[in-house]
Order: sequence, then C-alpha cells, then structure tokens
Amino acid sequence: MRFTNLSPLILLLILLFGCQTGPQMGKLIKIDAANMNEFWVYSDNNVVSNGLQLKNQSSEITSKFQERNFEFTAKVKTTAGAEGVLVFAIPDGAGSDQGYAIKINNSDYREGAPQKTGSLSKIRNNFVRTAMDGEWFDLGLTVKGNLIKVLVNNKTISEYAEPSNIQRSGENAGKLLTNGSLAIRKTNDAGELLIGEMTLKPLKEETKEEGCDVARDSLMKVVDLLNEQEFPLIDFHCHLKGGLTMEQACQHSRDIGYNYGVAANCGLKFPVTSDSTLNAYLDGISREPVFKAMQCEGREWITLFSPAAVARFDYIFTDAMTWSDQKGRRMRLWIPEETFVDNEQQFMEMLTGKIEAILGAEPVDIHVNPTYLPAKLAPDYDRLWTPERMDRVINALKTNDVALEINARFKIPSITFIKRAKAAGVKFTFGTNNGSNNDLGRLEYCLKAIKEAGLTSEDMFLPRPSKDKKVMKSGLPAKITG
Ligand SMILES: [Zn+2]
Repeated sequence: MRFTNLSPLILLLILLFGCQTGPQMGKLIKIDAANMNEFWVYSDNNVVSNGLQLKNQSSEITSKFQERNFEFTAKVKTTAGAEGVLVFAIPDGAGSDQGYAIKINNSDYREGAPQKTGSLSKIRNNFVRTAMDGEWFDLGLTVKGNLIKVLVNNKTISEYAEPSNIQRSGENAGKLLTNGSLAIRKTNDAGELLIGEMTLKPLKEETKEEGCDVARDSLMKVVDLLNEQEFPLIDFHCHLKGGLTMEQACQHSRDIGYNYGVAANCGLKFPVTSDSTLNAYLDGISREPVFKAMQCEGREWITLFSPAAVARFDYIFTDAMTWSDQKGRRMRLWIPEETFVDNEQQFMEMLTGKIEAILGAEPVDIHVNPTYLPAKLAPDYDRLWTPERMDRVINALKTNDVALEINARFKIPSITFIKRAKAAGVKFTFGTNNGSNNDLGRLEYCLKAIKEAGLTSEDMFLPRPSKDKKVMKSGLPAKITG
C-alpha cells in the first residue's frame, strides 16, 4: 500500500497516533517506585520505601501523560494537618492552578480547611471527613464523557456532570474537561503527603451524559454558585425512614449538590435506646460518607446513654416537640390527639419556657424543628411568635452555643425570626427532617433564607472537633427537663 492512496485524514491520524507512546486505551497500568519516572515529573520531594513524599507547600508531581477519559487511583496518606490537591484536566502547557481540583484534607472539623478529602473543590464541595490522618486511603477518580466521579475507599464522594456549553469565570474559569495532564500538589506547610501505588486506565471517548437525574434548572444554578463560593450546603437532618437506604440518601445528596447528615432517632421506644445499640449503629455506618447525627428524642434520652457514647456522633440535636404541660400531660405537638391547647397565650409561654429549659440543660449542638407550632396554632405563627418570645429563644441559643435549624420541610422558623437570630450572631444549619423515602427534596426554603436573610458561610454551623464536644465538657443533666 502506498501512502498516496490514503485520504489525508487517515494519514493525519497515523501521524498523530501511530507513533504515540504512553498509556494504552483500556489497559490498566500500575505505577509505583519502579516506574515512577516513566509517568511523572517530580521535584522537591523524596522517594521513600513506600512511595513519594510531598513535604513542602507546592511540592508537586505532574503527569507526563495527558488523558481525557480515564480511571485513576492512588494510595494516599496524610500526616497531621497535611493538605493537598489532585488536579486533572490541566490544559496543555498550563500549571496545576488550572483544571479541576480534588481536595486532600483529613483534619478534624473546624480545623484546617473546611473541605475534606474527596471534595471536587468549588464544584461539588465535600465537608464530611472521609479518611483519617496517619492511615492509607484509596483516592479514585473517573472521568467518562462529561461525568466526573470521585471515590474515597470505594465510596463515591463527589459526582458531577459538566453541562455542555458551561461558562465559568474567575477562579473557576480553568475548570473544563479536556485532554489534560494530572498533578498532585501539597497546598500547605503542615505534615506530609505520601503517595503510594497508583493505577491509570485510559478509557474510550464517551459522549452520552450519564448520572445526575436533576436537570440544571434555575435551582441547580443557585446550588452551583453556592458551591463556587464554598458555602457549606449540608442537610444536617436526614433520616433513613420509610425504606430509604443509605445508598439512596447518598445518591440523592450527590444529585442535588448537598452533603448529608444522617440522624438516628435515640430515645425511649426508639431504635437506639442504650450505649450498646448506639455503638452497634455507629460501627455499622462508620465508613459511610455522611455526617453521623443523633436525634435526642423525648426528654428521657439523657438517662439512657453515657457521655462518651454520645460524643461518638459528629453532632447531636433535639427539638421541643415532646414535653409535658403544667397538668402533666405528655404532648407530642405533631399529633393533634396528643396536643392540648387550653389557652393559646398560656401555651406559647409554656412552649417558650420549655425551649429555654431544654437548651439550657441538654448539651445539644442544634435545635431542630424550631418554633414548630401544633396544627391548631400554626396559621397564627406570626402573631404568636412575638418579638419578645423570639428574643427569648434567640437568647437561649446564643447563651448555650446551640445552632438553629432552618427546616426545609416545615418552612420554619420564619424569615423574620432568621434575620433576628442572624443579627444576634446565632449559627444556622439546614435540615429536611424527611418522614419517608420520597420527601428529601431540594431545600428550597433554605435557599430562600440564604437570599432573604443574607446568610454567608460564616453564619453556618460545622460540627465540633472531637476534643471539643459539649457533652464531654458538661456531661448529661441529672434530671430530665420534663
Ligand atoms: Zn428528625
């Protein structure tokens, strides 16, 4: 065959690909200390017996290969405080400040950067600790068509479908899928980043959009913008109820661009009633990429658990929907047959007093379903929650360092209440408190609160670090609040 018989296009393809070396389509390549030089350019780091050691801020390795569709894995270990990024889709000739970045950071909550390992930074942020300093973990990345998936220890942490014709600006301008190189860079001076064995598998071109059920509608554009601003979009109040599985909850959280906190109902006649059921529950979900929460039920919960067991949760919360009135009637405010309103003003005084007493006595982190009123009184919410009563609740939150939930399902508290609480310096959380497997929703009311009350990242609660748990400092009250 003579070249002159080939079409110019085929000739071009032969020239482009015929003599190309490097990773082969569909073939898994193992990269370790023996063949590191073949695939990576590195400087300012040392090869140790079990991998590469990135010690200083800006220590970096950059790939010699460029890939558009691929699977990549790396064994990674951080020592105390070390932070870094895995960057991909770095355009030809650009540095690792361009491209998508996956955060590596295993510091405790409220320490180091808020984004933790597996975060697709400023696109789909992750605030949940998914790995620990001092332990090897598997970081995985798949890019296929427009779909990006980030895994830590085989759990999907971030999932994102890059929309077609996406326009990005500012710091995010360089985040676009392309045939690019990879880099791993250390981003602070604390600790060390160790990189062990890596694998790379180039994949065929895919054009079909996969994953992501939620269309990029106006709500998703708001979520995208808040992710860009690193606003902690977290639903702290999700229950595995009505058949909802952990996997479904996690998939939903990725679809809507939020992180989740999954709460166990703990109290009399609830699934978790003792230290042993509590420990078994937590051991069973320890590897799930969600915050682990305790919903303290009724007022009797304080008698059922030890402080050390309670402190194993990332945070604990309670509401003021279950209490006994002056006549000793135990009420559950969401059940009309169990709610007694003899006099509405008297009822409101009692409710406000109960909230103050609960927040003063029980070492909770968040007050959930706040300002909830029984169905009979709900239509008069704005009249009954007078400025004086609002301020009593706000004062109890501030005094006891308790965050206020903005509840997406009940649309409480009112925007007026939220503005008043923000002005007083109260921290907020978002929560759905789903009742089943089909009502997790997309937290529209919380987005409305951000806009109308002007909430910023600084107004939002993040869990306390292990050394700073309220229940370990104050213990549990001797007497139930009633
Ligand atoms: Zn709940």
